[in-house]
Amino acid sequence: MNRHLASIALGLGLIATTAFAQLPQPNGGDIQRGTLPARWLSQQPKCMEIPEWQVHEYNPEFYILRQSPCTDFEKPFVFLLFGHNRALLMDTGSRNGNLVPALEHTIKSWLARNNRASIPLIVAHTHEHEDHTFGDAAIRAMNDPAIPVTFIPSEVEATKKFFGIANWPTDIGHVDLGGRMIDVIPIPGHSKVSIAMYDRNTAVLLGGDTVYPGRIYVADFPAFTSSLARLVAFTEGKPVANILGNHIEQSATPFVDYPVGTMYQPNEHELALPRGTLLELNEAVISMHGTPRRYCMRDISVWPVGPEFMTPGEEAAFKKHEAEEKARMWDHSAP
Ligand SMILES: [Zn+2]
Ligand SMILES: [Zn+2]
Repeated sequence: MNRHLASIALGLGLIATTAFAQLPQPNGGDIQRGTLPARWLSQQPKCMEIPEWQVHEYNPEFYILRQSPCTDFEKPFVFLLFGHNRALLMDTGSRNGNLVPALEHTIKSWLARNNRASIPLIVAHTHEHEDHTFGDAAIRAMNDPAIPVTFIPSEVEATKKFFGIANWPTDIGHVDLGGRMIDVIPIPGHSKVSIAMYDRNTAVLLGGDTVYPGRIYVADFPAFTSSLARLVAFTEGKPVANILGNHIEQSATPFVDYPVGTMYQPNEHELALPRGTLLELNEAVISMHGTPRRYCMRDISVWPVGPEFMTPGEEAAFKKHEAEEKARMWDHSAP
């Protein structure tokens, strides 16, 4: 290519990344397809009918596992992605989660499906909170020759080292699972060691507890503000098929959430969010000009952490609601 053509190409390239966001044609490019369930089993009213973990096949190389609300109202999602050489588990579940049996069953089914005897498993975390790390000890104790585990504790230094992040939190890290490159974006603010993951194969962005349909608890507002700006910049010009976060707390009715402690969410919001919700969240935070406050949007809300942000009696009301939910857990359909 001569210099003139090269400069035109460069110019077009710049236009492509600035004016034409995402993809040039509506055929999805090379993005691997995937589907989400219309309803999660955890939306049912009877605990006896909900498995400890629901395993959903987004596609044959990407699984979403959801913890039963009957074991913990947080009912988090964890994510399991397969490459040719390694698999990656994001998070290990919350209190009473008992993830190992469902995890081993899912990986062994994948091995059988692919005529493989074993696959190494990387275990990492969206962040360090207990509702995503409670299963760590059980997974470290797995000792299954078909699934040798490399465990990355949810700590800044270990995360930097494994994913090759030179400067935390401004640099992007990576892990190649074999034909599957994952970008790792540090996004502290909700917590100290929060990261987002971008799977280039499916264009899925794992938002952790930073972008999901519900209350986004913000512990460090300045860090959170910068992290959202970097996440917006990272995704600019890239296809984002779905943002998949760790929880659903929002109901399907715009602006209405399920209170803290809710187990039974028969009419919950779908898990997936578009990049537009990330942009909206970022705008909301910018509009606060450095002074955090609660801010509810259609599909997501900002909840700064701290007693000064609670309304009188709120904590007690949540505790009461949680106890009532537990008392009714075996049959929420009963009057
Ligand atoms: Zn969290
Ligand atoms: Zn959480």
